[in-house]
Amino acid sequence: MFRVLVIAFAIAGSAGGQQLKTSAQITNIGYEITADSAAVGQRQLGVAMTFNVSGTAPVVLALPAWSPGHYVMLWFSRRVSNFSPRQNGAALEWRELDFQTWEITPRGAGTVTVTFKYLANAVDRAVAWTAPNFAFFNGTNVFLYPVGRGFEWPARVTVRTEPGWRVATGMDPAPGTNNFSATNYHDLTDMPFYVGRFAIDSTQIAGKWIRLAFYPAATLTTARRDRTFGWLQKFVPHQIAVFGEAPFRNYTIFQRSDTVVNGGGLEHQSSQVDEVLTSQLDAPYLPGLYSHEFFHAWNVKRLRPADLVPYRYDDAQQTTWLWVSEGITDYYGALALVRGGVNDSTGFFDFIADEVSSIASAPPTALSDASLNAWIGSTDGSGGLYYPKGGFVGFLLDIMIRDASDNRRSLDNVMRNVYNQTYKRGRGFTPADWWGEISRAANGKSFADFARRYVDGRQQIPIDSLLSLAALRVKTDTLREPRLGVSTATDSTGITISQIALTGAGAAAGLRVGDRLVSIGEVAITTDSSFDAFRARYSGTTATTLPLVIRRGAQSLTLQLPVRLNTRVRTVVSPIPAAPEKAVRIRTGILKGSTS
Ligand SMILES: [Zn+2]
Repeated sequence: MFRVLVIAFAIAGSAGGQQLKTSAQITNIGYEITADSAAVGQRQLGVAMTFNVSGTAPVVLALPAWSPGHYVMLWFSRRVSNFSPRQNGAALEWRELDFQTWEITPRGAGTVTVTFKYLANAVDRAVAWTAPNFAFFNGTNVFLYPVGRGFEWPARVTVRTEPGWRVATGMDPAPGTNNFSATNYHDLTDMPFYVGRFAIDSTQIAGKWIRLAFYPAATLTTARRDRTFGWLQKFVPHQIAVFGEAPFRNYTIFQRSDTVVNGGGLEHQSSQVDEVLTSQLDAPYLPGLYSHEFFHAWNVKRLRPADLVPYRYDDAQQTTWLWVSEGITDYYGALALVRGGVNDSTGFFDFIADEVSSIASAPPTALSDASLNAWIGSTDGSGGLYYPKGGFVGFLLDIMIRDASDNRRSLDNVMRNVYNQTYKRGRGFTPADWWGEISRAANGKSFADFARRYVDGRQQIPIDSLLSLAALRVKTDTLREPRLGVSTATDSTGITISQIALTGAGAAAGLRVGDRLVSIGEVAITTDSSFDAFRARYSGTTATTLPLVIRRGAQSLTLQLPVRLNTRVRTVVSPIPAAPEKAVRIRTGILKGSTS
């Protein structure tokens, strides 16, 4: 996952404590999802599951409580209505065993069909959503599974929709129209669907088809298509290079934008689902979002901590290793951008600097604890710390491996070796796998003390001495930046004032709620990132007022904005001039993905 704005829809409680009955064996499992204009017009999906039974033994079916990658309990069963099992046209008896589990009593051998409606109006990229011409859903939302029967069973999926509406999914196509198949439940639930009127385009990168699926369709402009494929052409080969293979048949970027989203991305084994505000469709963070989610195709979807293998779907699956799954994905997301030339080295150093300041502003927290706490959304300031601190520790491990091996090996070797020795052998990685490979890459150097202090402990990381091994240093700048003292709302027509602080500069200039911003001084205000440009342009300015151009109704007005400078401390990572040759080689090796 990648967080832009975090709105948690967590509901307290857990169903995992009790031992549920094991379901009778069911076979020949198929699902039919109806996403036609009638269904999506009611913001619903029609779901039908069919299977064969051999007798009257109770069938116990459950819906997942969460979606892998999105470590929040979402209880998808809360969106189910009209639950109805039938056999030969007759209703079957059923009861709930808990709030996500149903027990059904068949009348005898034969085919059972279970139907329900699924409410598809969630503002969350892990949960189904609909518009009058569109549906998005994730397999975890709608595909019931038999309890206690494992997940290694094949299934078919048919999508019923309007003629002329498209269906996009990573699932394998099956004969017929809009038919698909999966060999096991884990794959079945990890292949999201777009259905309806959306734009799709594809290109080949490193011999694989990479697709863009954009909703609304008009948002996939020629310029965005070319720009996005350009980023992918640059960074994807550098991600493949880490592992030596691209382990998917094809790959899809599902990109939805709207005026209200739970912004960010969610990774799947051959796709990513990204949701951003319409005003952020051209935001500078997009390549970072796509690169992060793409790297998950290896790191967490395949190379995964043993705690998460196999996935369980009925309850939170805790692990102390999300700092590797998310933090190191963040690190490689940024590395692939600089190695591929999407960003320059300054962009990468800024990424590291942001991590340093995130660590500094959070309470001292062990990476393993921050990982465990992903599920509960800690409120002490350490929530999500496994991203920046995990990424930074990954960077330090890379530096230390290169330093200990005279830049002959790197964290890339560790990632590839752990991938080959665990995922490729059908298992997750253990602490011994991880630290063993790190130590081997670093010429046998022990990392036990490092892990005890900075991963499982809360000690302050000796940043200066470790960064100097890569000819880098960190310092803090104090900036004096102008502030408007307003809140704004952004839509396709521009940026509108939504709130005004009574004592701020905007209030003093005479701004009113509903005014539309045009420019401040020399800076045109067109998107959310215009405010960054405004602060940068007038940082430390000696001007006492700036012209503030607005539209108020049909009027165009120029107000005088008093300049109010606020202090901001900025962390900067930069190269050490005239550093030792070895340290420069290490820095260059990290930026280029090379070893000596
Ligand atoms: Zn992620």
